[in-house]
Amino acid sequence: MAELIGQLQSDLGEAAVLTGEDVAARAVGWSNPASRVARAIVRPASTAELALAVRRCAAAKQPIVTYGGGTGLVNGTDTEASDILLSLERMNRIESVDADGSTMTVQAGAVLQAVQERAEAEGFAFALDLGARGSATVGGAIATNAGGNSVIRYGMMREQVLGLEAVLADGTVLSSMNRMLKNNAGYDLKQLFIGTEGTLGVVTRAVLRLRPQMRSVCSGLVGLDRFDAVPPLLRHLGSTSGGTLSAFEVMWQDFYRALAETGNHDLPLGPDHAYYALVEWQGGDADQDPARFEQALGEAIERDWIADAAIAASERQRQAFWHMRDDIDGLREVLGDIVMFDVSLPIAAAERYTGAVFERLEARWPGAFRGVTFGHLGDSNIHFMLTTGSTDSASHTEAMRVVYDELKPYGGSISAEHGIGTEKLPYLGVSRSPDEIAAMRRLKQAFDPGNILNPGKVLDGATAAT
Ligand SMILES: Cc1cc2nc3c(=O)[nH]c(=O)nc-3n(C[C@H](O)[C@H](O)[C@H](O)COP(=O)(O)OP(=O)(O)OC[C@H]3O[C@@H](n4cnc5c(N)ncnc54)[C@H](O)[C@@H]3O)c2cc1C
Repeated sequence: MAELIGQLQSDLGEAAVLTGEDVAARAVGWSNPASRVARAIVRPASTAELALAVRRCAAAKQPIVTYGGGTGLVNGTDTEASDILLSLERMNRIESVDADGSTMTVQAGAVLQAVQERAEAEGFAFALDLGARGSATVGGAIATNAGGNSVIRYGMMREQVLGLEAVLADGTVLSSMNRMLKNNAGYDLKQLFIGTEGTLGVVTRAVLRLRPQMRSVCSGLVGLDRFDAVPPLLRHLGSTSGGTLSAFEVMWQDFYRALAETGNHDLPLGPDHAYYALVEWQGGDADQDPARFEQALGEAIERDWIADAAIAASERQRQAFWHMRDDIDGLREVLGDIVMFDVSLPIAAAERYTGAVFERLEARWPGAFRGVTFGHLGDSNIHFMLTTGSTDSASHTEAMRVVYDELKPYGGSISAEHGIGTEKLPYLGVSRSPDEIAAMRRLKQAFDPGNILNPGKVLDGATAAT
């Protein structure tokens, strides 16, 4: 095996291959500060170098785990001491912007925030946005088909990718760098690498779709006293905005009250509403849109859907609203050792579902259990941060079983946007049928017969039911 490392150092240069202390000096990722274990961290600077490294690993039957920004939340970049971690950190260039075609071509290690800022500087917007924007990479967002804050308007990462280039398990460079919105010439191969968490290939470059820059953004934080007002409010804002509703983020009362405990926020509404929604419109008329927004919220108050509302009067206030919604770090400090969940189910069932989950968890860990609930509810997506009062992994597993078990009556998904990784692997059968899992296995076998790409992620050991 020393032979492979030596070969990679000679192919890519010594600085591109980290070993020993240099590996241990790195953390596993955002959700795990433990020291990284791996045979080596390989950091190619180009597709050609990356393909060569994969070819060498394939010949040596060497497992590879691909790493973007390490912000994934399902242990997808975890490594064993015998793995090679393939980091895209040196492949972070924004290669070009095509203003006429509204596209941006990037290397997969480009950081999401850099992509957003470049799009903005060129007079466009890049539609994917999420709390980890400062570290998450385009490749990671593609591999996890990331969702985030604007899915209700623009869709998930899948909708932002027109073309991509990937290196297959045998080192073949598969270039599908399409730049058109329409292209039905045979199979759309890029889809194989979107949301498959690096198990079918390593994404090396992408053609991203840019959107028009909006001239106005109107944001409000509204308080609701009953859940059955949530779906009609969502429909109302969808139609009164003329289809430009870009965020509908719901925070349960437990979340809002925990925000108060962080001491990080000047909360604009009182703490007694059952639900809080951060709602946002984007529009093309900076003069008229704020008045239309205010009128729509006023109508919702008249119809008794909204009990109270605060409208952001400045960009600073808007950022303060988003900081509340995104303050996962602050909440982690308040709650202690948490398990994070990411599920989806039909919106109308959200209250019944969360109520049933909390009832069971409170009964199981009386006095110790605590949880907060929030999510991109406009996209049917709910997140929980839960603590059983213990760091014991057995209690975390038990809590997971409850959360996923309660999804079954609604046909919900154990992963709305974070993927499967290793964390959700034993529960895949809750949301996918045996036939679906068998088809996934056939794809994996076809694209990675030696099982060297992210082995043990997404599929290995997946059961048909829990
Ligand atoms: C504070 C916070 C907020 C978040 N909010 C959201 C949210 O709103 N919506 C959401 O969807 N996610 C969210 N996430 C999760 C995370 O940010 C996304 O999953 C993100 O897309 C991961 O990107 P990354 O570059 O960090 O990937 P990594 O964590 O490095 O990797 C994630 C997975 O992708 C694979 N991978 C990485 N790069 C490549 C590549 N080039 N080719 C093939 N496979 C690759 C890895 O092997 C791993 O399986 C959040 C995370 C944090 C920490």
